Amino acid sequence: MSSRRVIVIGGGLAGIAAALDSVAGGAEVTLLEARGRLGGAAYSFQRGGLEVDNGQHVFLRCCTAYRELIGRLEAQALVTMQPRLSVAVLAPGGRRGYLSRTGLPAPLHLAASLARYPYISWRERLSLAWAMQRLRAVDINDPEADGVPFGRWLAAQRQSRNAVAAVWELITRPTLNLGVDDASLAQAAQVFQVGLLSDAAAGDIGWALAPLSEIHDRAAARALQRAGVQVQLRSGAQTISVEPAGGFLVRGRAFGERHADAVVVALSPARAAQIVPAAAGLRDGFAAALGSSAILNLHVIYDRKVLEQPFAATIGTPLQWIFDRTASSGLREGQYLAVSLSAADGERHDSVAALRARYLPELAGVLPAARGAQVREFFVTREHTATFRAAPGQRAWRPGPRTRLDGLLLAGAWTDTGWPATMEGAVRSGQAAARVALAGLSGARRGAEHASVPA
Ligand SMILES: Cc1cc2nc3c(=O)[nH]c(=O)nc-3n(C[C@H](O)[C@H](O)[C@H](O)COP(=O)(O)OP(=O)(O)OC[C@H]3O[C@@H](n4cnc5c(N)ncnc54)[C@H](O)[C@@H]3O)c2cc1C
Repeated sequence: MSSRRVIVIGGGLAGIAAALDSVAGGAEVTLLEARGRLGGAAYSFQRGGLEVDNGQHVFLRCCTAYRELIGRLEAQALVTMQPRLSVAVLAPGGRRGYLSRTGLPAPLHLAASLARYPYISWRERLSLAWAMQRLRAVDINDPEADGVPFGRWLAAQRQSRNAVAAVWELITRPTLNLGVDDASLAQAAQVFQVGLLSDAAAGDIGWALAPLSEIHDRAAARALQRAGVQVQLRSGAQTISVEPAGGFLVRGRAFGERHADAVVVALSPARAAQIVPAAAGLRDGFAAALGSSAILNLHVIYDRKVLEQPFAATIGTPLQWIFDRTASSGLREGQYLAVSLSAADGERHDSVAALRARYLPELAGVLPAARGAQVREFFVTREHTATFRAAPGQRAWRPGPRTRLDGLLLAGAWTDTGWPATMEGAVRSGQAAARVALAGLSGARRGAEHASVPA
């Protein structure tokens, strides 16, 4: 029996990263995935001849682990990134402004754009600059900062409701999947510090040119196979038990029993809570305490081009962010927009008809060209538990990769990576779990070698 056998449970980005790093470290790796595809929460599916993402995904230049994973999947040609941050911000009546950066070092890189940003007054600009300076100084590892609602902190920095809506909410909501009033100050500070306020290029935005499953399923499967990982789809793990002689036994209906010297559990909090043995010492109720926040995507196919930019943010409307998915979905005529609604718990059960009636006029409000256009299709994708809630106090509920059982590791965007629930957080968590697993395995082997040396 190999003494370096690793089972990774869960084929999302965390599991893929954990499997690739474990096999690169010399382990014999099996990846078990319950569904018939890899990619977890970031996937696409076929619908009427188009390939549709379950929800728009973007990443930033500072997402170094995710970008490195894209390289390992040999999928660089399937993503793109702006040379410099530039976001059109649309408002009803056809108004538009831009949030963009210059080549100056951070935080001066945003100064010119904020000076011209049409949605805030001069007084609000000065106050915003001051609050950004204060936010740079927040200790993101301080539990006290984690306990404070970001909205309350912004109010204490005298940020007007208008400035909150025009700048702070615009960035917080899609990155934390929570509004400013519900989000943790420490988690929001992490996003602004890492993404906007430390390195000028960090906030440049990247996105997929292909359907998500082309990257996170098909390219990932090829990369895992090249690396020598044994991938088993439709193979949900049901239990993990500790073996008396060492290691773990993973059981599942599709594969029976599998022995492993180390197991990486790369599942959602709710699934991890079901499968991780009590002896691992996870805090009672951690999955419920982390909670979840929904994301809806409204998919609107127009008979003509109505949005000029590849994507745009909006203010003064409930639309949030809009993305052009025409080319990536395979649509040949007209334009396909995905409207991404984060922190959408309040609307997640609304009917398609209600969402259509509410949002099409909003689109026509910010996109003058949409007024005369015909809507060919309107459908909705709903991710009811898209991410955990990065709410005040969240950090204490996010475990690191280690558990009380040596060799049983945790991964997933919800673990304690310091990042919000993102693709970057997922990849980092998988890498961290693999590091600990490999260190434990080589420690165990060294121990066994010493034990076999006669005294
Ligand atoms: C609509 C939407 C939009 C998003 N937008 C962005 C964005 O713009 N940018 C960004 O960075 N992030 C975004 N995210 C978040 C990002 O997708 C996730 O944080 C990340 O993909 C989570 O990866 P993971 O590997 O931790 O977990 P998951 O992707 O949840 O993977 C867990 C895997 O485990 C499998 N599984 C479950 N039970 C079992 C079992 N018993 N045995 C074996 N396998 C099992 C599941 O099928 C799944 O494949 C978005 C998420 C959603 C839903």
